Amino acid sequence: MISVRTVLCPNPGPFTGPGTNTYVVSSGSEAVIIDPGPVHDGHQHSTIEAAAGLDVEAVLVTHTHPDHAPAANRIADHFAVPAYSFSPGPDFAPDRLLADGDRVGFGGAEIVAIHTPGHTDDHLCFQVDGLLFTGDHIMGGSTVIIENATTYLQSLRRIADREVETLYPGHGPVLEPAVIEMYIAHRQERERQIVASVSGGAETVDAIVAEVYAGVPGEVLAAARRQVEVQLRKLVEDGRLQWLRADDDVGERVQLTQGSQD
Ligand SMILES: [Zn+2]
Repeated sequence: MISVRTVLCPNPGPFTGPGTNTYVVSSGSEAVIIDPGPVHDGHQHSTIEAAAGLDVEAVLVTHTHPDHAPAANRIADHFAVPAYSFSPGPDFAPDRLLADGDRVGFGGAEIVAIHTPGHTDDHLCFQVDGLLFTGDHIMGGSTVIIENATTYLQSLRRIADREVETLYPGHGPVLEPAVIEMYIAHRQERERQIVASVSGGAETVDAIVAEVYAGVPGEVLAAARRQVEVQLRKLVEDGRLQWLRADDDVGERVQLTQGSQD
């Protein structure tokens, strides 16, 4: 029987929702801690309190973004256990690396690492029994900022194929697995909107952002712009768009490739 204690870090914001969820996941008297979060004395104190009475066996990091990983070494040191991740990050040095399918045992249970690139190349989800810890691959209450639209969609399909009962995201409340299909549909809809925008005459990232992300607040507009660039790269890879030669005045422009009108 797996139990989960959630410790909410006080770092709310436009990209972190109510804050980072740190999870203390236990089986019997043993536990692992997922995503200790940023370096923050109060949050680390709360995390250690949440693990009171448990033998912590490992610290697991979904990815090395600054709101997930930097406290992992100090929490691992506190419990004298290894910290694990897919790769090192700017403020985090894992003791051991996890590849896709690697397992970490605790209290007779095993938690498996699932490589889910897209939000970042180094992203892992962790599954134990029917519980899937999704980091920023799936976030409660908002869509995810992605680095690679091709791998992100593949990674969504990977977790959609798994037998899962509950999702524990890196931010926001627990979710039903049905949201995975909603995320896939949202990505496809964004792609459809971008193709429609280009087919309607928009050629530059700015013109596409103005149409597809109309009304988005200024603080997230730069992120929206990067999302359009990421989505355009995928459409070019898929052969549906092509880059036109960069124009000094407007920068890079795109157009539909022949036959990809939709
Ligand atoms: Zn992240």
